[in-house]
Amino acid sequence: MADDRDWKIQLKYRYLDLASLPPDFEVSGGERAFAKTMAGAQVPPFAVTGYYLSLAENRVDDPIRRQFMPSPEEARTTPWELDDPLGENRFSPCPRLVHQYRDRALLLTTGACAVYCRHCFRRNYTRREEGFISDRELVPVESYLREHGEISQLLLSGGDVLTGSDDRIGNLLSRLRAASPRIVFRVCTRIPAVLPARITAGLLSVIAKEGPAWFVVHYNHPRELSPESLSALARIVDAGIPVLSQTVLLRGVNDSAETLAELFQGLVAARVKPYYLFQGDLAKGTAHLRTPIDEGLMIYSKLRTMLSPLALPSYAVDLPGGGGKISLTDGALVGAADGCRTYRSPLDGLVYRYPVEN
Ligand SMILES: *Cc1c(COP(=O)(O)O)cnc(C)c1O
Ligand code: SF4
Repeated sequence: MADDRDWKIQLKYRYLDLASLPPDFEVSGGERAFAKTMAGAQVPPFAVTGYYLSLAENRVDDPIRRQFMPSPEEARTTPWELDDPLGENRFSPCPRLVHQYRDRALLLTTGACAVYCRHCFRRNYTRREEGFISDRELVPVESYLREHGEISQLLLSGGDVLTGSDDRIGNLLSRLRAASPRIVFRVCTRIPAVLPARITAGLLSVIAKEGPAWFVVHYNHPRELSPESLSALARIVDAGIPVLSQTVLLRGVNDSAETLAELFQGLVAARVKPYYLFQGDLAKGTAHLRTPIDEGLMIYSKLRTMLSPLALPSYAVDLPGGGGKISLTDGALVGAADGCRTYRSPLDGLVYRYPVEN
């Protein structure tokens, strides 16, 4: 099995600028020009691991390439798009913590990711590349958890918590466990899809020791289920940790029922339960990666005829501005007006809008 040095080297020496990409990897003039403007722009940095790059085919419309390659289209923002598309700032009782649902909270453990997804909805956070949560920053989080015993699940999100070392993760989990002895951790991570060597025996024993924990992994295309990635998933499940997956419905990546069916069946074969299929959030500069909601509903109704409920995730959207997650297929729709659909939030009873067109 991969040792701890492998992934650290792969992470450290991932590609961080377009100029360092292998010479046979084609970069267009537009991409090169856009990359030069990125430093001051409101977009996540460029980073891709050699492993994830190796999954891409060398053509501009390749579905893997579209997910890591910065596009000049990111400079375009639409009137509906927001800096904080989920309204997370509204629900943040202290830095790094988001408490929107009564019994669940979310911790922004770090802003770092192994690969920055061009569709990232938390791009305003990841672009700052905030470091791993420090001991000092943990203090208010611990007191909040102590005072809020109703929180039974804590999502470890970011950024990607598994970019941290085993020691840091172990320290984080044991402090959170001490503050809230019965809490269930959800490790939300894209790592098995972009840096599978990170899933080491050492990491899994740290997590299993501080459990109960679930993994929630992020896969968008069947080609991401490579032999290396499948074996990383098998290591997690074999360590006794249950695994769910999330997928974002992305234009030009997975916007067809056949592609998604292959992905979800592949995940089930890897003993992973597809949990959510997300409609794209209204993050700035991501319109070219969003599939319109009506098209999403058509794809989903086709998926329903193709898949067992075991393989079928719930098709959901985070209501823009902080209305929370709703299923798009069970009656939350209350109306349509001015080029948008309206949905009632189960959290605050208010009506929120999502545009029909990008
Ligand atoms: C998605 C999310 C959760 C978890 O929601 P589930 O529907 O239980 O998966 C919790 N907190 C925040 C802020 C979220 O965005
Ligand atoms: S791994 Fe998650 S947090 Fe990081 S860029 Fe991708 S979607 Fe955003």
